[in-house]
Amino acid sequence: MDGKVYFIGAGPGDPELLTRKAWKILCSAEVVLHDALVPAEILGLAPGGATIFDVGKRCGRKSISQHELHGLLIRHAEAGRTVVRLQGGDPLIFGRAAEEMAALRAAGIDFEIVPGVTAASAAAAAARISLTDRMAASRVMFLSAHRRGGEAVLDWETLPTADVTLAIYMPGGKYEEIARALTAAGFEGATACLIVSRASTPEQTVVQAELASLGQVPEAVAPALLIVGEVTRTELQELVVPARPA
Ligand code: SAH
Repeated sequence: MDGKVYFIGAGPGDPELLTRKAWKILCSAEVVLHDALVPAEILGLAPGGATIFDVGKRCGRKSISQHELHGLLIRHAEAGRTVVRLQGGDPLIFGRAAEEMAALRAAGIDFEIVPGVTAASAAAAAARISLTDRMAASRVMFLSAHRRGGEAVLDWETLPTADVTLAIYMPGGKYEEIARALTAAGFEGATACLIVSRASTPEQTVVQAELASLGQVPEAVAPALLIVGEVTRTELQELVVPARPA
Protein backbone atom coordinates (compact mmCIF):
# COMPACT_ATOMS: atom_id res chain seq x y z
CA MET A 1 0.00 0.00 0.00
CA ASP A 2 1.16 3.53 -0.73
CA GLY A 3 2.34 5.70 2.12
CA LYS A 4 1.26 9.24 2.69
CA VAL A 5 2.86 12.67 2.58
CA TYR A 6 2.21 15.12 5.41
CA PHE A 7 2.88 18.80 4.76
CA ILE A 8 3.67 20.01 8.24
CA GLY A 9 4.14 23.56 9.47
CA ALA A 10 7.05 23.71 11.93
CA GLY A 11 6.05 27.19 13.13
CA PRO A 12 8.28 30.25 13.41
CA GLY A 13 11.09 28.81 15.55
CA ASP A 14 9.93 28.20 19.10
CA PRO A 15 9.41 24.40 19.31
CA GLU A 16 6.55 25.00 21.75
CA LEU A 17 4.58 26.57 18.92
CA LEU A 18 4.46 23.25 17.08
CA THR A 19 0.92 21.81 17.07
CA ARG A 20 0.24 18.57 18.90
CA LYS A 21 -0.74 17.03 15.59
CA ALA A 22 2.55 18.04 13.94
CA TRP A 23 4.42 16.65 16.94
CA LYS A 24 2.58 13.32 16.81
CA ILE A 25 3.12 12.78 13.08
CA LEU A 26 6.79 13.78 13.26
CA CYS A 27 7.35 11.22 16.00
CA SER A 28 6.25 8.47 13.59
CA ALA A 29 7.89 9.83 10.42
CA GLU A 30 9.99 7.48 8.33
CA VAL A 31 11.24 10.13 5.92
CA VAL A 32 11.55 13.87 6.62
CA LEU A 33 12.28 16.47 3.94
CA HIS A 34 12.84 19.82 5.60
CA ASP A 35 13.58 23.44 4.83
CA ALA A 36 16.47 25.53 6.12
CA LEU A 37 14.33 27.35 8.68
CA VAL A 38 13.30 24.29 10.70
CA PRO A 39 15.05 24.26 14.11
CA ALA A 40 17.16 21.24 15.12
CA GLU A 41 15.02 20.70 18.22
CA ILE A 42 11.99 20.02 16.01
CA LEU A 43 13.92 17.79 13.59
CA GLY A 44 15.10 15.85 16.62
CA LEU A 45 11.53 14.62 17.16
CA ALA A 46 11.78 12.28 14.18
CA PRO A 47 12.63 8.70 15.19
CA GLY A 48 16.32 7.71 15.16
CA GLY A 49 15.84 5.46 12.13
CA ALA A 50 14.12 8.10 9.99
CA THR A 51 15.80 9.33 6.81
CA ILE A 52 16.24 13.10 6.93
CA PHE A 53 16.79 15.23 3.84
CA ASP A 54 17.70 18.90 4.00
CA VAL A 55 16.00 20.31 0.92
CA GLY A 56 16.36 23.94 2.00
CA LYS A 57 17.04 26.61 -0.55
CA ARG A 58 18.65 29.75 0.77
CA CYS A 59 20.02 32.76 -1.08
CA GLY A 60 19.72 31.04 -4.43
CA ARG A 61 21.92 28.11 -3.33
CA LYS A 62 19.83 25.12 -4.31
CA SER A 63 20.49 21.84 -2.56
CA ILE A 64 18.22 19.76 -4.81
CA SER A 65 15.95 20.81 -7.64
CA GLN A 66 12.20 21.12 -7.20
CA HIS A 67 11.82 18.26 -9.67
CA GLU A 68 14.13 16.01 -7.64
CA LEU A 69 12.19 16.91 -4.52
CA HIS A 70 8.92 15.82 -6.15
CA GLY A 71 10.63 12.57 -7.13
CA LEU A 72 11.73 11.92 -3.54
CA LEU A 73 8.25 12.62 -2.15
CA ILE A 74 6.64 10.28 -4.67
CA ARG A 75 9.23 7.51 -4.46
CA HIS A 76 9.16 7.27 -0.67
CA ALA A 77 5.36 7.41 -0.52
CA GLU A 78 5.10 4.71 -3.19
CA ALA A 79 7.39 2.56 -1.05
CA GLY A 80 4.68 2.73 1.64
CA ARG A 81 6.46 5.17 3.95
CA THR A 82 5.16 7.98 6.14
CA VAL A 83 6.76 11.04 4.56
CA VAL A 84 6.88 14.42 6.29
CA ARG A 85 7.46 17.56 4.24
CA LEU A 86 8.44 19.92 7.04
CA GLN A 87 8.41 23.66 6.43
CA GLY A 88 8.99 26.74 8.55
CA GLY A 89 5.88 28.62 9.63
CA ASP A 90 2.80 27.47 7.73
CA PRO A 91 3.41 25.17 4.77
CA LEU A 92 0.85 26.97 2.60
CA ILE A 93 2.43 30.42 2.84
CA PHE A 94 5.39 31.26 0.59
CA GLY A 95 6.48 27.65 0.29
CA ARG A 96 6.32 25.40 -2.74
CA ALA A 97 3.34 23.44 -1.49
CA ALA A 98 1.23 24.25 -4.56
CA GLU A 99 3.76 22.63 -6.89
CA GLU A 100 4.40 19.73 -4.54
CA MET A 101 0.69 19.00 -4.06
CA ALA A 102 0.18 19.12 -7.83
CA ALA A 103 2.96 16.57 -8.30
CA LEU A 104 1.43 14.29 -5.66
CA ARG A 105 -2.05 14.61 -7.16
CA ALA A 106 -0.68 13.72 -10.57
CA ALA A 107 1.05 10.67 -9.10
CA GLY A 108 -2.07 9.62 -7.18
CA ILE A 109 -0.36 9.92 -3.77
CA ASP A 110 -2.44 10.71 -0.71
CA PHE A 111 -1.43 13.77 1.32
CA GLU A 112 -2.56 15.82 4.29
CA ILE A 113 -1.72 19.30 5.55
CA VAL A 114 -1.00 20.26 9.14
CA PRO A 115 -0.97 24.07 9.42
CA GLY A 116 1.62 25.94 11.43
CA VAL A 117 2.02 29.39 12.98
CA THR A 118 3.10 31.68 10.18
CA ALA A 119 5.83 34.32 10.60
CA ALA A 120 3.36 37.23 10.44
CA SER A 121 1.52 35.91 13.49
CA ALA A 122 4.75 35.28 15.38
CA ALA A 123 6.17 38.70 14.45
CA ALA A 124 3.01 40.48 15.59
CA ALA A 125 3.14 38.54 18.86
CA ALA A 126 6.81 39.46 19.33
CA ALA A 127 6.05 43.15 18.82
CA ARG A 128 2.82 42.92 20.83
CA ILE A 129 0.73 44.47 18.08
CA SER A 130 -2.49 43.32 16.44
CA LEU A 131 -2.35 42.71 12.69
CA THR A 132 -5.91 43.94 12.34
CA ASP A 133 -7.54 46.75 14.25
CA ARG A 134 -11.14 47.91 14.02
CA MET A 135 -9.92 51.50 13.84
CA ALA A 136 -6.82 51.14 11.65
CA ALA A 137 -6.70 47.98 9.54
CA SER A 138 -9.58 45.83 8.40
CA ARG A 139 -7.33 43.79 6.09
CA VAL A 140 -3.91 42.12 6.15
CA MET A 141 -1.86 41.29 3.10
CA PHE A 142 0.99 38.79 3.03
CA LEU A 143 3.53 39.88 0.43
CA SER A 144 6.82 38.43 -0.68
CA ALA A 145 9.72 40.76 -1.44
CA HIS A 146 11.48 37.91 -3.19
CA ARG A 147 10.63 37.26 -6.79
CA ARG A 148 11.35 34.17 -8.80
CA GLY A 149 14.35 35.03 -10.90
CA GLY A 150 15.21 37.90 -8.51
CA GLU A 151 13.63 40.74 -10.55
CA ALA A 152 14.72 44.09 -9.18
CA VAL A 153 11.37 45.86 -9.39
CA LEU A 154 8.64 45.25 -6.85
CA ASP A 155 5.41 45.85 -8.68
CA TRP A 156 3.16 46.96 -5.84
CA GLU A 157 1.35 49.88 -7.44
CA THR A 158 -2.04 48.25 -7.11
CA LEU A 159 -1.79 47.81 -3.34
CA PRO A 160 -4.35 49.47 -1.10
CA THR A 161 -2.64 52.09 1.08
CA ALA A 162 -5.25 52.76 3.77
CA ASP A 163 -6.94 50.53 6.34
CA VAL A 164 -4.38 47.79 5.65
CA THR A 165 -1.48 45.99 7.30
CA LEU A 166 1.24 44.58 5.07
CA ALA A 167 3.30 41.62 6.24
CA ILE A 168 6.29 41.52 3.91
CA TYR A 169 8.09 38.18 3.94
CA MET A 170 11.70 37.74 2.74
CA PRO A 171 12.63 41.43 2.80
CA GLY A 172 16.36 40.56 2.87
CA GLY A 173 18.30 43.81 3.09
CA LYS A 174 16.25 45.48 0.39
CA TYR A 175 14.65 48.07 2.69
CA GLU A 176 15.43 50.97 0.42
CA GLU A 177 13.99 49.23 -2.64
CA ILE A 178 10.91 48.20 -0.66
CA ALA A 179 10.44 51.77 0.64
CA ARG A 180 10.67 53.05 -2.92
CA ALA A 181 8.07 50.55 -4.14
CA LEU A 182 5.70 51.40 -1.29
CA THR A 183 6.14 55.13 -1.89
CA ALA A 184 5.34 54.58 -5.56
CA ALA A 185 2.23 52.70 -4.44
CA GLY A 186 1.13 55.83 -2.55
CA PHE A 187 2.23 55.14 1.03
CA GLU A 188 3.32 58.28 2.86
CA GLY A 189 6.80 58.81 4.29
CA ALA A 190 5.32 58.87 7.81
CA THR A 191 3.89 55.35 7.46
CA ALA A 192 4.92 53.28 10.48
CA CYS A 193 6.95 50.09 9.93
CA LEU A 194 8.43 47.34 12.09
CA ILE A 195 11.18 44.88 11.29
CA VAL A 196 10.91 41.76 13.41
CA SER A 197 13.86 39.39 13.37
CA ARG A 198 13.79 35.77 14.57
CA ALA A 199 10.31 36.09 16.07
CA SER A 200 9.43 33.58 18.81
CA THR A 201 13.09 32.73 19.53
CA PRO A 202 15.21 34.00 22.45
CA GLU A 203 17.07 36.21 19.92
CA GLN A 204 14.00 38.02 18.63
CA THR A 205 14.37 41.75 18.02
CA VAL A 206 11.96 44.43 16.91
CA VAL A 207 13.01 47.66 15.21
CA GLN A 208 10.69 50.55 14.44
CA ALA A 209 11.07 52.98 11.55
CA GLU A 210 9.03 55.30 9.38
CA LEU A 211 8.84 54.48 5.70
CA ALA A 212 10.91 57.59 4.84
CA SER A 213 13.86 56.33 6.90
CA LEU A 214 13.47 52.58 6.29
CA GLY A 215 16.36 52.60 3.80
CA GLN A 216 18.78 53.64 6.56
CA VAL A 217 17.93 50.78 8.93
CA PRO A 218 20.71 48.18 9.15
CA GLU A 219 19.70 44.78 7.78
CA ALA A 220 18.15 42.61 10.48
CA VAL A 221 19.41 39.08 11.08
CA ALA A 222 17.41 36.56 9.01
CA PRO A 223 14.75 35.39 9.16
CA ALA A 224 13.06 38.76 9.43
CA LEU A 225 9.67 40.13 8.51
CA LEU A 226 8.67 43.70 7.71
CA ILE A 227 5.27 44.86 8.93
CA VAL A 228 3.87 48.09 7.51
CA GLY A 229 0.87 50.08 8.64
CA GLU A 230 -0.81 52.03 11.38
CA VAL A 231 -1.03 48.98 13.70
CA THR A 232 2.77 49.09 14.10
CA ARG A 233 2.70 52.52 15.75
CA THR A 234 3.44 51.43 19.32
CA GLU A 235 5.43 52.68 22.25
CA LEU A 236 9.15 52.32 21.56
CA GLN A 237 10.05 51.16 25.06
CA GLU A 238 7.91 48.08 24.58
CA LEU A 239 9.78 47.00 21.52
CA VAL A 240 12.47 44.55 22.53
CA VAL A 241 10.66 41.65 24.08
CA PRO A 242 12.45 38.37 24.74
CA ALA A 243 10.18 35.44 23.79
CA ARG A 244 11.43 33.23 26.61
CA PRO A 245 14.58 33.01 28.71
CA ALA A 246 17.64 32.15 26.58
N1 SAH B 1 6.11 29.35 5.37
C1 SAH B 1 6.75 30.38 6.15
C2 SAH B 1 7.36 31.45 5.29
C3 SAH B 1 8.48 30.97 4.38
S1 SAH B 1 9.28 32.29 3.57
C4 SAH B 1 5.76 30.97 7.15
O1 SAH B 1 4.56 30.69 7.06
O2 SAH B 1 6.19 31.72 8.02
C5 SAH B 1 10.58 32.65 4.70
C6 SAH B 1 10.37 34.01 5.31
O3 SAH B 1 9.47 33.92 6.42
C7 SAH B 1 11.61 34.65 5.88
O4 SAH B 1 12.38 35.27 4.88
C8 SAH B 1 11.01 35.66 6.82
O5 SAH B 1 10.53 36.80 6.12
C9 SAH B 1 9.81 34.91 7.36
N2 SAH B 1 10.09 34.27 8.66
C10 SAH B 1 10.12 32.96 8.92
N3 SAH B 1 10.36 32.72 10.23
C11 SAH B 1 10.48 33.94 10.81
C12 SAH B 1 10.73 34.39 12.15
N4 SAH B 1 10.89 33.53 13.16
N5 SAH B 1 10.78 35.74 12.37
C13 SAH B 1 10.60 36.62 11.37
N6 SAH B 1 10.37 36.26 10.10
C14 SAH B 1 10.31 34.94 9.81
